[in-house]
Amino acid sequence: MSLTVVGSLAFDAVKTPSGSRDRMLGGAATHFALAASFFDEVRPVGPVGDDFGPEELAILQTRGTITDDVEHVAGGKTFFWAGEYHDNLNTRTTLRTDLNVFEHFEPKLSPAAQDCDVLFLANIQPELQLNVREQCENARFVAMDSMNLWIDIAHDALVRTVKAVDCLILNDEELEQLTGAPTTVKAAEELLGWGLKAVVAKTGKYGAGLFTEDGYFFIPAYPLHEVVDPTGAGDTFAGGFVGYVAAQADAALDHQLFCEAMAYGTALASFNVEEFGTERVARLTGGEIAERVGELQGMTRFEIEALSLRG
Ligand code: AMP
Repeated sequence: MSLTVVGSLAFDAVKTPSGSRDRMLGGAATHFALAASFFDEVRPVGPVGDDFGPEELAILQTRGTITDDVEHVAGGKTFFWAGEYHDNLNTRTTLRTDLNVFEHFEPKLSPAAQDCDVLFLANIQPELQLNVREQCENARFVAMDSMNLWIDIAHDALVRTVKAVDCLILNDEELEQLTGAPTTVKAAEELLGWGLKAVVAKTGKYGAGLFTEDGYFFIPAYPLHEVVDPTGAGDTFAGGFVGYVAAQADAALDHQLFCEAMAYGTALASFNVEEFGTERVARLTGGEIAERVGELQGMTRFEIEALSLRG
């Protein structure tokens, strides 16, 4: 089994109420791979420049991630993103996006990456996502992310891409923007009508909702005393969610499986935000994840005695 992810490999500059970093390893595919590597052999696909050195490659290779499909563009510079978080940590301002080597990126997957069992299309141009999806025609499960930029400037291409995958993982507001629906529930219904098996609505520090043909499930974010840096939380969530599905090779792709995947995504994301960038997830252990999934299970389950109500 293997899990291919296409997306940004980046350097990030981040400012949060807890502090700042001028240049740290980031990128959607990086955060995804670090999380998903707990579940399966991961192959990130994406370009990097001369500034992406052995130290960054070593972090990406954590838990056996295979970097054969990381394309080194000679003379190029790695994708760079800078952002600043506001006091409530649920909103951020992008200060800078330098596409650099991503500007002329044409994904050419190795046969091993094409032969993946599960595929994740992290947030990049929808045309590139579709190109990769078509190269992995035997994938058992394909999930994707996107962002408001593509909804604004590449709506039709994004719709075509969404119709070619099994699962869409997006912020609740982006789901509404994509479909033009006034509520997340209506947006999810519309998207399930496009042929998706699952729609995940991320709601930042509040948690995430799952919609399938068989129902609805919501899980809160794991309660933390301090959030240091939310960068990559969404991709780490996706790494836990999609990684869990990849690890259950014989399980049916049904509501129950996706509910379990929500718990792993939530647990992984909660570790990611405890420190800057990849710092926390890079040295995380499977035992810590299992413990947090258990805590999430405990805090969301309740028994109740039937009470006869007045009226
Ligand atoms: P998240 O916080 O989950 O939205 O992911 C943030 C990560 O995505 C950062 O590490 C950035 O390097 C990367 N990123 C930010 N903007 C973009 C973009 N336009 N395209 C691809 N990756 C991006």
